[in-house]
Amino acid sequence: MKVLKFGGTSVGSPESIKEVAKIVSNIEGQKIVVLSAMSQTTNVLHQITDAIGASNFEEASSIIDMMIDRYKKVIEGLFSTEAVKNTASAFIEERFDFIKSYAHEGSVEIIDAIEKIIVAQGEILSTNMFSMYMNEINTPASLLSAFDFMRIDEAGEPDSDFITESLGEIIKANADTDIFITQGYICLSHLGDIDNLKRGGSDYSASLIGAAIVAEEIQIWTDIDGMHNNDPRYVDKTFSLKEISFDEAAELAYFGAKILHPQSVIPAKEKNVPVLLKDTFNPESAGTIIRNCEVPNKVRAIAAKDGITAIRIKSYRMLMAYGFLKNIFEVFEKFKTSIDMITTSEVAVSLTIDDDTNLNEIVKELEDIGSVKVDSDLSIICLAGDFSEKQKGGSAAIFNSLTNIPIRMISYGGSNYNVSLVVSSKDKIQALQDLNAGVFESK
Ligand code: ASP
Ligand code: MG
Repeated sequence: MKVLKFGGTSVGSPESIKEVAKIVSNIEGQKIVVLSAMSQTTNVLHQITDAIGASNFEEASSIIDMMIDRYKKVIEGLFSTEAVKNTASAFIEERFDFIKSYAHEGSVEIIDAIEKIIVAQGEILSTNMFSMYMNEINTPASLLSAFDFMRIDEAGEPDSDFITESLGEIIKANADTDIFITQGYICLSHLGDIDNLKRGGSDYSASLIGAAIVAEEIQIWTDIDGMHNNDPRYVDKTFSLKEISFDEAAELAYFGAKILHPQSVIPAKEKNVPVLLKDTFNPESAGTIIRNCEVPNKVRAIAAKDGITAIRIKSYRMLMAYGFLKNIFEVFEKFKTSIDMITTSEVAVSLTIDDDTNLNEIVKELEDIGSVKVDSDLSIICLAGDFSEKQKGGSAAIFNSLTNIPIRMISYGGSNYNVSLVVSSKDKIQALQDLNAGVFESK
């Protein structure tokens, strides 16, 4: 069994949906097709919720009407028989009427719950349209509701046992089915309410499903031909990597590689299920395979993540007393803010966060421990490769490339597969280009 996940642009137009159907039909064996919402849909559903939350019910209704128009155009271009067009139109009207039913004063107080219900409709729409299309072209497929197996626990983490058990039963009961279709992103909470796996979570759904059934392979189909060695938005002459290890891919996804949701490598890695990244618009190209493989003694790939804040805490005493770090970490724990990078000297510690929601409170409490300096608008540059102690000189090319870039922090040795640097975001593009020239192009 394979898991095939298609992102928003892959299901974003009638032409691309037809392309997806072809790709799915050409892959042999049993498969579970996981779909995102059509591109932009989730953003617009959030706009609708925001409008409702601000009591702008007319605005919410008019955005909904625009969505109905857009989906009607897709229906026109996708289906060929009047009967299916009518069924599909009735379906989307029913869904958007349902969303509209929340556009009144009473919803404002329970907007958080409503938001989750509304944003879930995107994947419900895309999977229903796709499954109607598969039926129209006589390729039988069964639509599974993610609500029947995808669940998170009280801490918001996927409930793997529940997912494995429920999905296993569903598949066992449908042994003759070749193609299953289901929604990415959406799930139920531990209380049984509609919830989701956070923005971009469809990749995570695919990986959780692939791990639950111990799939032969998880394929993530997007609009780029795999994971590149550097960020193609800022650097010319990047290339798609043939293969990359789970650990490297996890670091790169976490630190900015847009192609994959940050957590999505973990479930696949745990069950050793290879993840193949493919391009829906260029299906012939090989893509990138993420699996257990050799990691080269050089930089394999670079990614960058913006929106980083660095906090330096300098001990009031001359030397760091024991308990200094513990006291600092407790503050972050209290405000449920995770720390990405950390470096220490004898008298001070610097660390970075990407969620600055509680920054003011955090700083206030840290000031009881030491003097605090905050720098914002920073970027983390992550370099993946083998930097373990058995290697020599892996870092020389990195630092030689960056003679013109002020570096705020360096993290080396946290894992064998990653070196991270923090620079000012205004220097990021230059840093990516200089690193590209120094570590990839000079050879
Ligand atoms: N539709 C959701 C989003 O846009 C999930 C996904 O596409 O992965 O965030
Ligand atoms: Mg995505």
